[in-house]
Amino acid sequence: MKDFSKLTKNLEHFGYTVRAFSTAEEANLYLTEAIQNRSVGFGGSKTLEAMGLLDLLSARNDVYWHWYPRENFSNADTLEKARDAEVYISSVNAIAETGEIINIDGTGNRVAAISHGHEKVYLIVGENKIAPTFEEALYRARNVAAPLNAQRLGVDTPCAINGDKCYDCDRPHRICRNLSILWRKPAGAEYEVILIHESLGY
Ligand code: SF4
Repeated sequence: MKDFSKLTKNLEHFGYTVRAFSTAEEANLYLTEAIQNRSVGFGGSKTLEAMGLLDLLSARNDVYWHWYPRENFSNADTLEKARDAEVYISSVNAIAETGEIINIDGTGNRVAAISHGHEKVYLIVGENKIAPTFEEALYRARNVAAPLNAQRLGVDTPCAINGDKCYDCDRPHRICRNLSILWRKPAGAEYEVILIHESLGY
């Protein structure tokens, strides 16, 4: 089990609220109590999908997720609703024990949403996303998370074909178009980082 103490100390120093859970199930129990009667946007995330959070939160909230658009909502409508939601929930591509939070996006909806525009942002982090240093976290986001995302999407990029590393490609289907580094909690909103002692997403 990973030791969250250094990461927690640094994140709290940078302005985040931090909560740690042994399992995704325990985190789900907390989140379903904490988030009620709100509009909620989800970022694309295998972590959120694996946790089953969409169904759990939809029972008491108005939730929008472009991976699972609601009936009569187009993809564009869903992205717009998620952008305008009171609460936004996302995972991360990597987080450094020194406190930097790293995400890479194609369309930019997720990195925009975790930077600005919501009353509260929850970042859900499986322990597999944690790297010791900023450099190693950036390496992870570029060379582990992004190629696996490219494979999931089945795009025509060398990382998707070989599945081993980032080739910094110039393909039309390149999914890495936007890099976000949260050096500190963005001003003007509440942020809560949920650390989970499980391997979740990639
Ligand atoms: S830049 Fe290209 S090769 Fe590198 S991870 Fe992104 S899509 Fe793959």
